Amino acid sequence: MNLCRADKVLLAGGAAVLGSSALLTATPLAFGASAAFLVVLTDGIFRPSSSVFYPTISHGPRDRPRVALTFDDGPDPEVTPSILDTLEAAGARATFFAIGRQLEKHRDIGVRALREGHELGNHSWMHSYFQNFYGTDHQQSDVERSTRLIQELSGSDAEPLYRPPVGLKSPALARVAHARKLKVVAWSLHSRDTFTSDPKATAERVLGRIAPGDIVLMHDGHERDGKHRRLAAAALPLILSGLKERGLSPVTVSELLRP
Ligand SMILES: [Zn+2]
Repeated sequence: MNLCRADKVLLAGGAAVLGSSALLTATPLAFGASAAFLVVLTDGIFRPSSSVFYPTISHGPRDRPRVALTFDDGPDPEVTPSILDTLEAAGARATFFAIGRQLEKHRDIGVRALREGHELGNHSWMHSYFQNFYGTDHQQSDVERSTRLIQELSGSDAEPLYRPPVGLKSPALARVAHARKLKVVAWSLHSRDTFTSDPKATAERVLGRIAPGDIVLMHDGHERDGKHRRLAAAALPLILSGLKERGLSPVTVSELLRP
């Protein structure tokens, strides 16, 4: 049987809990086994770079002077075009983990990003708060719908990189990822652009921590209709000039990972 990593973890953890419970009914050891399993499950679901359920990429090679800037939750017609302008002026490339239903509304922005050498990644169709409770079929159709749209815009049948909404990975998603051989991408540096209103502070945070191979998380959109996140667009010129000073080239995630 071709089990994905999530199923192996669930089987092994379940067996350990059942085995210890049967042998040691309600002893501290049985509780210990259950608690340890719970810690593993929690890590698998909630830590964005966790590979417990599925191999997850959070950075590229550390020995080359390149980094990948990634923008989530767009496209947003009020924000993304200005990010594209800034990237173009600096000759920098980035990856946009687009929400499918937003990309459907703003296909022109997606097409422009691709034309200018950027990469479109799949960040689910719905970006629902309940995504983690979707069953396998629902996860599959959500991934598939965004993948098809990105393939239509790019004219390529390659499976786009995938970043789960809110960085959460459920066993159901892991099964879909395994079946589709998805490349799941998290990040090594969170810009915290959703927690502050000061673009200078965001740029300082990123530039103070960035190292070769980092994948940086920023946002050009919002999962809720009518809401906008403008901070990354304001911080981007500062970040790009800081990267230049440090000799770090911003490339797409796929370029960063290329051997
Ligand atoms: Zn998101």
